[in-house]
Amino acid sequence: MSALSAHLRELIAQEGPLTLERFMALALGHPTMGYYMTRDPLGLEGDFTTAPEISQMFGELIGLWAAETWVAMGAPQELRLVELGPGRGTLMQDALRAASVVPAFAKAIDVHLVETSPALSRVQRTSLAHAGVPVTWHGGVETIPSGPAIVIANEFFDALPVRHYMKNEGAWRERLVGLDNHGRFIFGLSRMAEPSIRAQAPEGSVIEICPAGQQIMNVLAGRLATQGGAALIIDYGYAQTSLGETLQALQGHRFVDPLAQPGEADLTAHVDFAALTRAARAAGAQVFGPVSQGALLTALGIFDRARALSRRANAAQTAQISAAVTRLVSSEVGVDVDGGRVDGMGSLFKALCVMAPGMAAPAGFETVGP
Ligand code: SAH
Repeated sequence: MSALSAHLRELIAQEGPLTLERFMALALGHPTMGYYMTRDPLGLEGDFTTAPEISQMFGELIGLWAAETWVAMGAPQELRLVELGPGRGTLMQDALRAASVVPAFAKAIDVHLVETSPALSRVQRTSLAHAGVPVTWHGGVETIPSGPAIVIANEFFDALPVRHYMKNEGAWRERLVGLDNHGRFIFGLSRMAEPSIRAQAPEGSVIEICPAGQQIMNVLAGRLATQGGAALIIDYGYAQTSLGETLQALQGHRFVDPLAQPGEADLTAHVDFAALTRAARAAGAQVFGPVSQGALLTALGIFDRARALSRRANAAQTAQISAAVTRLVSSEVGVDVDGGRVDGMGSLFKALCVMAPGMAAPAGFETVGP
């Protein structure tokens, strides 16, 4: 049994069942035993892999997007380049290298990383040691200094805790995590009904919401609306709010039971882009998209970039570059090196752009209205 499991059992024994939201927050973010506190979960040896870890092209294209967006903002002399949940720092490293072709941009920026994990902060410190720009770490978005900003978040919002409500005996009740007779974690429901939810739905339906994500979006959008700038949010998720639950757990690149080993598996939920859009608009920002990751990367020139890289590559590297493009852009299912299933990220992953009012659609979002 993991140390965190023992701690959560103790907590439930003392206080009664935990809300799913609290269980997920502790499983991922318990200050000493949480999943993200204790490890670098990314890559082949880890539990999951992400677009910047698949190919340098991903971060490079985003770096060029940021430089172009900065020009569209009127090239302010100071820009906060912010990343939420920077993982190994790979995206930022690739972005800064690519954006160095616009020296005035490189001169204008200071980098701010919002990261909760001490283990990953250490990895980021190493990756960005020679980036040549000032880098500051933050525990949350509130402490990022004011001023025009460009914010990047790849696979950040999916890591924030969700709340579930289930329609049961005619009322919406919050999902809880308790213990069965053998001391195993099990789902249950609050006896109290939640009167603020009035949605009509059949018995057994589930509503999933991510208050933490909406709160962070609200703060970010508010500052972008008043101080200028843009945010590019990329994640897997859905464009329209709908009924149903998407909580999932990954361990060693395989789906596992989300309650089985808290602190040892990555818990995520799909991102509700419509809810993020509502939170951003309520704070006065304009929103473009979501567009599919495939459409965004194609518009930003991933095929040209792949051709350019391939000119300097040997046969094996060329095959790798082409496989990476397919994985990032297409929505087809492929097969992993170890025979596992790999879902193409092209359409499950989506990109949303939040901007100060009055700015024109940024690169990759021209075809979708605000
Ligand atoms: N963006 C990276 C990593 C994605 S994994 C990539 O694409 O490779 C999720 C990242 O978000 C990790 O860096 C994790 O430590 C961080 N994270 C998770 N919850 C967080 C929170 N509540 N506040 C800040 N960072 C968080």
